Amino acid sequence: MANIFYEKDSELSLLENKTVGVLGFGSQGHAHSLNLRDSGVRVMVGLRKESNSRDKAEKFGLTVKTIPDVVKESDIIMVLLPDEVQSEVYSKEIAPYLSKGKMLMFAHGFSIRYFQIIPPEDVDVSMIAPKGPGHLVRREYESGRGVPSLLAVYQNPTGKAKELALAYAKGIGATRAGVIETSFKEETETDLFGEQAILCGGVTSLMKAGFEVLVEAGYQPEMAYFECINEMKLIVDLIYEGGFSTMRYSISNTAEYGDYVTQDKLITEETKKKMREILKEIQTGKFAKEWILENKAGAPFLNSMRKIEKSHELEKVGKELRKMMPWVKSDIESEGE
Ligand code: NAD
Ligand code: MG
Ligand code: MG
Repeated sequence: MANIFYEKDSELSLLENKTVGVLGFGSQGHAHSLNLRDSGVRVMVGLRKESNSRDKAEKFGLTVKTIPDVVKESDIIMVLLPDEVQSEVYSKEIAPYLSKGKMLMFAHGFSIRYFQIIPPEDVDVSMIAPKGPGHLVRREYESGRGVPSLLAVYQNPTGKAKELALAYAKGIGATRAGVIETSFKEETETDLFGEQAILCGGVTSLMKAGFEVLVEAGYQPEMAYFECINEMKLIVDLIYEGGFSTMRYSISNTAEYGDYVTQDKLITEETKKKMREILKEIQTGKFAKEWILENKAGAPFLNSMRKIEKSHELEKVGKELRKMMPWVKSDIESEGE
């Protein structure tokens, strides 16, 4: 079983007389910097000169400086930039200003696990990774709670990396919920596997296949969309609230019986074999290498897939159906809509 740390296991006073530099003011960056500030920690935010988040961060009363200045002036530097730009920003704007005894922190292990960032040996390297998006990390903190998070230590030349990372976790509210100990390797590999096999790749291809089967069989696309895509949320919410058993308690007996008789027909030993192959490509670094090269080439596959997937019939059907559901709102503007 995992090692879990709570409020009593962490000491916010370890951050007294220290400055925490948060690089980036996106989903995680805004939540971490505001939560730390409200916990009484001295925080500054590092952004590009031309960043349009600068005004936003300043309006919240945060001190904003360039990334090199923040790295120079901080004892703890949390890197909350998109994973695919971290390596370049690190070599140009972070590494030259790191010095002995500082701590470099991450909220995801990709750059360290796949050697896109190789920190100097005299710098502590740790991770506090909330298991939720930034707006939840901020909202829960403001209501006196926190989001469960992961803790990992990659290198610890000062011998204080774990205690300091736990203090950081307390500052963002995470120890109110619980902080699970892991490693950079485990966090990165399970995170990539989850998003590929299940959460993103798995779920969207399952929904799309179901939609196509119904439409090809002559059923109306609106019916196919509701059954195979839209209703997923209702089921997932029930699982989120109480696991499979709560979900199965809530659905009809017919649906539950159908669940049991279909399971092994659809997700077979063959599917699991594929999952193991996906996991292997994550473990060997094959996936990471391809993703890094994709970015170096200007992301041609990513961009063409975005176009292709956006033009699928199911996206048009969904857009029309959402007009019937005014309570369904997204504040994410998807290009081309
Ligand atoms: P984001 O895309 O929301 O924000 C990134 C920030 O970096 C923005 O402020 C952006 O302006 C800035 N930025 C972008 N390119 C830059 C560049 N070239 N130079 C300098 N600044 C640049 O990112 P995020 O989702 O907050 O992710 C940050 C980290 O947190 C990642 O390591 C991610 O894996 C991790 N994480 C994210 C979530 C999540 O739900 N979003 C959850 C857990 C961990
Ligand atoms: Mg992920
Ligand atoms: Mg039904």
